[in-house]
Amino acid sequence: MSTIAVIGLGNMGGPMAANLVSAGHDVRGFDLAEQACATASAAGVTVAGSGTEAVREAEVVITMLPAGQHVLTAYDELLPASADGAVFVDCSTIDATSARTAHEKAAAAGRRSVDAPVSGGVVGAEGGTLTFMAGGETDAVQAAGPILAVLGKRTVHCGPGGAGQVAKMCNNMVLGVSMIAVSEAFVLAERQGLDPQALFDVMSTSSGQCWAVSTNCPVPGPVPGSPANREFAGGFAAPLMLKDLRLADAAADEAGLTLRLGRTATERYTEFVDREDRVRDFSAIIEDVREAAS
Ligand code: NAD
Repeated sequence: MSTIAVIGLGNMGGPMAANLVSAGHDVRGFDLAEQACATASAAGVTVAGSGTEAVREAEVVITMLPAGQHVLTAYDELLPASADGAVFVDCSTIDATSARTAHEKAAAAGRRSVDAPVSGGVVGAEGGTLTFMAGGETDAVQAAGPILAVLGKRTVHCGPGGAGQVAKMCNNMVLGVSMIAVSEAFVLAERQGLDPQALFDVMSTSSGQCWAVSTNCPVPGPVPGSPANREFAGGFAAPLMLKDLRLADAAADEAGLTLRLGRTATERYTEFVDREDRVRDFSAIIEDVREAAS
Protein backbone atom coordinates (compact mmCIF):
# COMPACT_ATOMS: atom_id res chain seq x y z
CA MET A 1 0.00 0.00 0.00
CA SER A 2 1.29 3.48 -0.87
CA THR A 3 0.27 6.92 0.28
CA ILE A 4 -0.85 8.87 -2.76
CA ALA A 5 -2.00 12.48 -3.04
CA VAL A 6 -4.46 13.44 -5.75
CA ILE A 7 -4.79 17.17 -6.33
CA GLY A 8 -7.80 18.00 -8.52
CA LEU A 9 -10.74 15.68 -7.86
CA GLY A 10 -12.91 16.68 -10.83
CA ASN A 11 -14.39 14.55 -13.63
CA MET A 12 -11.08 12.76 -14.15
CA GLY A 13 -9.19 13.08 -10.87
CA GLY A 14 -12.21 12.02 -8.80
CA PRO A 15 -12.66 8.56 -10.31
CA MET A 16 -8.87 8.08 -10.53
CA ALA A 17 -8.60 8.72 -6.78
CA ALA A 18 -11.51 6.34 -6.17
CA ASN A 19 -9.75 3.58 -8.14
CA LEU A 20 -6.60 4.04 -6.07
CA VAL A 21 -8.70 3.66 -2.90
CA SER A 22 -10.27 0.48 -4.33
CA ALA A 23 -6.76 -0.87 -5.00
CA GLY A 24 -5.98 -0.48 -1.28
CA HIS A 25 -3.92 2.70 -1.28
CA ASP A 26 -4.08 5.46 1.30
CA VAL A 27 -5.34 8.33 -0.86
CA ARG A 28 -5.22 11.92 0.33
CA GLY A 29 -7.09 14.33 -1.92
CA PHE A 30 -7.70 18.02 -2.32
CA ASP A 31 -9.82 20.15 -4.60
CA LEU A 32 -10.92 23.78 -4.45
CA ALA A 33 -14.52 22.71 -5.19
CA GLU A 34 -16.54 21.45 -2.23
CA GLN A 35 -18.67 19.10 -4.31
CA ALA A 36 -15.60 17.39 -5.76
CA CYS A 37 -14.25 16.90 -2.22
CA ALA A 38 -17.57 15.49 -1.01
CA THR A 39 -17.78 12.99 -3.87
CA ALA A 40 -14.18 11.88 -3.31
CA SER A 41 -14.75 11.55 0.41
CA ALA A 42 -17.76 9.29 -0.23
CA ALA A 43 -15.44 7.11 -2.35
CA GLY A 44 -13.01 6.69 0.55
CA VAL A 45 -10.51 9.44 -0.21
CA THR A 46 -9.17 11.26 2.85
CA VAL A 47 -9.90 14.85 1.91
CA ALA A 48 -7.29 17.27 3.25
CA GLY A 49 -7.81 20.91 4.16
CA SER A 50 -5.19 22.04 1.63
CA GLY A 51 -2.95 20.75 -1.10
CA THR A 52 0.10 21.01 1.12
CA GLU A 53 -1.58 18.90 3.78
CA ALA A 54 -2.54 16.29 1.19
CA VAL A 55 1.01 15.85 -0.14
CA ARG A 56 2.92 15.90 3.14
CA GLU A 57 3.39 12.11 3.47
CA ALA A 58 2.67 11.08 -0.10
CA GLU A 59 5.06 8.88 -2.06
CA VAL A 60 3.31 9.81 -5.31
CA VAL A 61 1.63 13.16 -5.97
CA ILE A 62 -0.86 13.14 -8.84
CA THR A 63 -2.18 16.42 -10.21
CA MET A 64 -5.25 16.46 -12.48
CA LEU A 65 -5.91 20.14 -13.12
CA PRO A 66 -7.42 22.25 -15.90
CA ALA A 67 -4.42 24.00 -17.49
CA GLY A 68 -0.70 24.85 -17.34
CA GLN A 69 -0.97 27.81 -14.99
CA HIS A 70 -2.90 25.70 -12.44
CA VAL A 71 -0.19 23.05 -12.51
CA LEU A 72 2.68 25.54 -12.13
CA THR A 73 0.95 27.36 -9.28
CA ALA A 74 0.20 24.04 -7.59
CA TYR A 75 3.82 22.85 -8.01
CA ASP A 76 5.12 26.07 -6.37
CA GLU A 77 2.94 25.32 -3.38
CA LEU A 78 3.21 21.53 -3.22
CA LEU A 79 6.86 20.80 -3.98
CA PRO A 80 8.28 22.40 -0.81
CA ALA A 81 5.64 20.63 1.30
CA SER A 82 6.26 17.17 -0.17
CA ALA A 83 8.21 14.31 1.36
CA ASP A 84 11.75 13.39 0.30
CA GLY A 85 11.61 10.89 -2.53
CA ALA A 86 8.08 11.80 -3.64
CA VAL A 87 7.37 11.44 -7.36
CA PHE A 88 5.21 14.11 -8.97
CA VAL A 89 2.95 12.88 -11.77
CA ASP A 90 0.99 15.50 -13.67
CA CYS A 91 -1.86 13.83 -15.57
CA SER A 92 -3.46 17.11 -16.70
CA THR A 93 -3.44 18.04 -20.38
CA ILE A 94 -1.31 21.18 -20.56
CA ASP A 95 1.02 23.00 -22.95
CA ALA A 96 4.44 21.46 -23.45
CA THR A 97 6.27 24.59 -22.25
CA SER A 98 4.48 24.56 -18.90
CA ALA A 99 5.10 20.81 -18.62
CA ARG A 100 8.84 21.36 -19.09
CA THR A 101 8.76 24.20 -16.56
CA ALA A 102 6.98 21.92 -14.09
CA HIS A 103 9.77 19.34 -14.53
CA GLU A 104 12.37 22.07 -13.90
CA LYS A 105 10.59 23.17 -10.74
CA ALA A 106 10.44 19.58 -9.51
CA ALA A 107 14.12 18.98 -10.24
CA ALA A 108 15.07 22.22 -8.46
CA ALA A 109 13.15 20.96 -5.42
CA GLY A 110 14.91 17.58 -5.60
CA ARG A 111 11.82 15.69 -6.74
CA ARG A 112 11.36 13.26 -9.62
CA SER A 113 8.56 14.12 -12.02
CA VAL A 114 6.54 12.74 -14.91
CA ASP A 115 4.13 14.42 -17.31
CA ALA A 116 1.51 11.77 -17.96
CA PRO A 117 -1.51 13.12 -19.85
CA VAL A 118 -4.18 10.56 -20.56
CA SER A 119 -6.35 9.23 -23.30
CA GLY A 120 -9.63 7.48 -22.49
CA GLY A 121 -11.74 10.24 -20.96
CA VAL A 122 -14.09 9.91 -18.00
CA VAL A 123 -15.07 6.36 -18.99
CA GLY A 124 -11.39 5.36 -18.93
CA ALA A 125 -10.84 7.14 -15.61
CA GLU A 126 -13.81 5.33 -14.07
CA GLY A 127 -12.91 1.95 -15.50
CA GLY A 128 -9.17 2.17 -14.83
CA THR A 129 -8.48 1.77 -18.54
CA LEU A 130 -6.66 5.02 -19.33
CA THR A 131 -3.63 5.21 -21.58
CA PHE A 132 -0.81 7.35 -20.20
CA MET A 133 1.65 9.20 -22.43
CA ALA A 134 4.61 9.69 -20.14
CA GLY A 135 7.48 12.14 -20.34
CA GLY A 136 10.38 12.27 -17.93
CA GLU A 137 13.47 10.45 -16.69
CA THR A 138 13.24 6.67 -16.86
CA ASP A 139 13.53 6.17 -13.10
CA ALA A 140 10.68 8.63 -12.48
CA VAL A 141 8.44 6.88 -15.00
CA GLN A 142 9.34 3.52 -13.49
CA ALA A 143 8.60 4.78 -9.98
CA ALA A 144 5.17 5.99 -11.11
CA GLY A 145 4.54 2.78 -13.06
CA PRO A 146 2.75 0.67 -10.41
CA ILE A 147 0.34 3.50 -9.64
CA LEU A 148 -0.32 4.26 -13.30
CA ALA A 149 -0.97 0.53 -13.80
CA VAL A 150 -3.89 0.79 -11.33
CA LEU A 151 -5.35 3.72 -13.25
CA GLY A 152 -4.82 2.57 -16.79
CA LYS A 153 -4.11 -0.32 -19.10
CA ARG A 154 -1.07 1.12 -20.83
CA THR A 155 1.75 3.59 -20.25
CA VAL A 156 3.93 4.65 -23.17
CA HIS A 157 7.20 6.31 -22.15
CA CYS A 158 7.43 8.90 -24.91
CA GLY A 159 10.72 10.57 -24.00
CA PRO A 160 12.08 13.31 -21.73
CA GLY A 161 10.03 15.85 -19.79
CA GLY A 162 7.21 17.30 -21.90
CA ALA A 163 7.22 14.41 -24.41
CA GLY A 164 3.95 13.03 -23.03
CA GLN A 165 2.18 16.32 -23.66
CA VAL A 166 3.60 16.56 -27.17
CA ALA A 167 2.41 13.01 -27.96
CA LYS A 168 -1.05 13.78 -26.60
CA MET A 169 -1.50 16.98 -28.62
CA CYS A 170 -0.24 15.29 -31.81
CA ASN A 171 -2.66 12.39 -31.33
CA ASN A 172 -5.60 14.68 -30.65
CA MET A 173 -4.77 16.94 -33.57
CA VAL A 174 -5.13 13.88 -35.81
CA LEU A 175 -8.40 13.02 -34.07
CA GLY A 176 -9.82 16.53 -34.58
CA VAL A 177 -8.82 16.63 -38.23
CA SER A 178 -10.02 13.08 -38.92
CA MET A 179 -13.43 13.68 -37.32
CA ILE A 180 -13.98 16.61 -39.69
CA ALA A 181 -12.82 14.53 -42.68
CA VAL A 182 -15.04 11.60 -41.68
CA SER A 183 -17.99 13.97 -41.22
CA GLU A 184 -17.41 15.41 -44.70
CA ALA A 185 -17.41 11.87 -46.11
CA PHE A 186 -20.72 10.98 -44.46
CA VAL A 187 -22.31 14.27 -45.58
CA LEU A 188 -21.11 13.69 -49.15
CA ALA A 189 -22.49 10.14 -49.04
CA GLU A 190 -25.83 11.45 -47.71
CA ARG A 191 -26.14 13.94 -50.56
CA GLN A 192 -25.22 11.31 -53.12
CA GLY A 193 -27.86 8.90 -51.78
CA LEU A 194 -25.38 6.40 -50.31
CA ASP A 195 -26.60 4.53 -47.24
CA PRO A 196 -24.43 5.55 -44.22
CA GLN A 197 -24.27 1.90 -43.16
CA ALA A 198 -22.78 0.99 -46.56
CA LEU A 199 -20.20 3.75 -46.25
CA PHE A 200 -19.35 2.58 -42.73
CA ASP A 201 -19.01 -1.05 -43.90
CA VAL A 202 -16.54 0.10 -46.55
CA MET A 203 -14.55 2.67 -44.59
CA SER A 204 -14.26 0.63 -41.39
CA THR A 205 -12.57 -2.15 -43.35
CA SER A 206 -10.69 -0.05 -45.90
CA SER A 207 -8.00 2.62 -45.99
CA GLY A 208 -10.38 5.26 -44.57
CA GLN A 209 -10.51 3.30 -41.32
CA CYS A 210 -9.81 5.35 -38.16
CA TRP A 211 -11.16 5.81 -34.62
CA ALA A 212 -13.54 8.54 -35.83
CA VAL A 213 -15.19 5.94 -38.08
CA SER A 214 -14.87 2.67 -36.17
CA THR A 215 -15.53 3.78 -32.57
CA ASN A 216 -16.95 7.29 -32.57
CA CYS A 217 -18.88 7.26 -35.84
CA PRO A 218 -20.62 10.67 -36.21
CA VAL A 219 -23.85 9.23 -37.67
CA PRO A 220 -26.31 7.11 -35.65
CA GLY A 221 -26.64 3.41 -36.47
CA PRO A 222 -23.38 1.79 -37.55
CA VAL A 223 -21.67 1.95 -34.10
CA PRO A 224 -24.39 1.60 -31.44
CA GLY A 225 -22.15 2.93 -28.66
CA SER A 226 -21.09 6.12 -30.43
CA PRO A 227 -22.43 9.44 -29.03
CA ALA A 228 -24.28 10.12 -32.31
CA ASN A 229 -26.85 7.54 -31.14
CA ARG A 230 -27.72 9.61 -28.05
CA GLU A 231 -27.80 13.08 -29.57
CA PHE A 232 -24.07 13.45 -28.91
CA ALA A 233 -24.44 13.35 -25.12
CA GLY A 234 -21.38 12.21 -23.13
CA GLY A 235 -18.23 11.21 -24.97
CA PHE A 236 -15.32 13.59 -25.52
CA ALA A 237 -16.66 17.11 -25.04
CA ALA A 238 -16.10 19.47 -28.00
CA PRO A 239 -14.55 22.17 -25.74
CA LEU A 240 -11.89 19.66 -24.62
CA MET A 241 -11.13 18.82 -28.25
CA LEU A 242 -10.79 22.55 -28.92
CA LYS A 243 -8.48 22.91 -25.93
CA ASP A 244 -6.19 20.16 -27.30
CA LEU A 245 -6.21 21.61 -30.82
CA ARG A 246 -5.22 25.00 -29.42
CA LEU A 247 -2.35 23.37 -27.52
CA ALA A 248 -1.15 21.82 -30.79
CA ASP A 249 -1.49 25.19 -32.56
CA ALA A 250 0.52 26.91 -29.85
CA ALA A 251 3.23 24.24 -30.00
CA ALA A 252 3.37 24.56 -33.81
CA ASP A 253 3.72 28.34 -33.51
CA GLU A 254 6.46 27.91 -30.96
CA ALA A 255 8.30 25.55 -33.32
CA GLY A 256 7.84 27.98 -36.26
CA LEU A 257 5.59 25.51 -38.10
CA THR A 258 2.47 26.15 -40.15
CA LEU A 259 0.23 23.09 -39.87
CA ARG A 260 -2.65 23.95 -42.13
CA LEU A 261 -5.05 21.13 -41.36
CA GLY A 262 -4.46 21.41 -37.63
CA ARG A 263 -5.12 25.15 -37.83
CA THR A 264 -8.26 24.63 -39.92
CA ALA A 265 -9.56 22.09 -37.39
CA THR A 266 -8.95 24.61 -34.60
CA GLU A 267 -10.91 27.26 -36.50
CA ARG A 268 -13.79 24.88 -37.21
CA TYR A 269 -14.02 23.75 -33.58
CA THR A 270 -13.75 27.35 -32.33
CA GLU A 271 -16.76 28.35 -34.45
CA PHE A 272 -18.63 25.22 -33.42
CA VAL A 273 -18.01 25.60 -29.68
CA ASP A 274 -18.85 29.32 -29.79
CA ARG A 275 -22.25 28.52 -31.31
CA GLU A 276 -23.10 25.63 -28.96
CA ASP A 277 -25.43 26.32 -26.05
CA ARG A 278 -24.70 22.91 -24.47
CA VAL A 279 -21.72 20.60 -24.18
CA ARG A 280 -21.80 17.73 -26.68
CA ASP A 281 -19.37 15.14 -27.99
CA PHE A 282 -16.93 16.53 -30.54
CA SER A 283 -18.44 14.34 -33.29
CA ALA A 284 -21.46 16.71 -33.28
CA ILE A 285 -19.23 18.79 -35.61
CA ILE A 286 -20.97 16.78 -38.37
CA GLU A 287 -23.95 19.15 -37.98
CA ASP A 288 -21.66 22.09 -38.65
CA VAL A 289 -20.11 20.28 -41.62
CA ARG A 290 -23.60 19.52 -43.01
CA GLU A 291 -24.61 23.16 -42.70
CA ALA A 292 -21.36 24.54 -44.09
CA ALA A 293 -21.59 22.20 -47.07
CA SER A 294 -25.05 23.43 -48.16
P1 NAD B 1 -12.55 19.23 -14.10
O1 NAD B 1 -12.78 20.67 -14.33
O2 NAD B 1 -13.71 18.32 -13.92
O3 NAD B 1 -11.58 19.02 -12.83
C1 NAD B 1 -10.49 19.85 -12.52
C2 NAD B 1 -10.56 20.08 -11.03
O4 NAD B 1 -9.39 20.79 -10.61
C3 NAD B 1 -11.77 20.91 -10.58
O5 NAD B 1 -12.56 20.15 -9.69
C4 NAD B 1 -11.14 22.15 -9.93
O6 NAD B 1 -11.89 22.60 -8.82
C5 NAD B 1 -9.80 21.59 -9.51
N1 NAD B 1 -8.77 22.58 -9.24
C6 NAD B 1 -8.40 23.66 -9.98
N2 NAD B 1 -7.35 24.28 -9.42
C7 NAD B 1 -7.06 23.59 -8.28
C8 NAD B 1 -6.07 23.72 -7.27
N3 NAD B 1 -5.18 24.71 -7.29
N4 NAD B 1 -6.06 22.82 -6.26
C9 NAD B 1 -6.97 21.81 -6.22
N5 NAD B 1 -7.91 21.64 -7.15
C10 NAD B 1 -7.96 22.51 -8.17
O7 NAD B 1 -11.64 18.74 -15.33
P2 NAD B 1 -11.39 17.23 -15.80
O8 NAD B 1 -12.37 16.87 -16.86
O9 NAD B 1 -11.22 16.37 -14.61
O10 NAD B 1 -9.99 17.40 -16.55
C11 NAD B 1 -8.77 17.50 -15.83
C12 NAD B 1 -7.63 17.45 -16.84
O11 NAD B 1 -7.73 16.24 -17.58
C13 NAD B 1 -7.67 18.59 -17.85
O12 NAD B 1 -6.36 19.03 -18.09
C14 NAD B 1 -8.28 17.94 -19.07
O13 NAD B 1 -7.88 18.57 -20.27
C15 NAD B 1 -7.73 16.54 -18.97
N6 NAD B 1 -8.52 15.52 -19.65
C16 NAD B 1 -9.88 15.48 -19.49
C17 NAD B 1 -10.60 14.50 -20.16
C18 NAD B 1 -12.11 14.40 -20.00
O14 NAD B 1 -12.73 13.65 -20.77
N7 NAD B 1 -12.71 15.09 -19.03
C19 NAD B 1 -9.95 13.58 -20.99
C20 NAD B 1 -8.57 13.63 -21.09
C21 NAD B 1 -7.86 14.61 -20.42
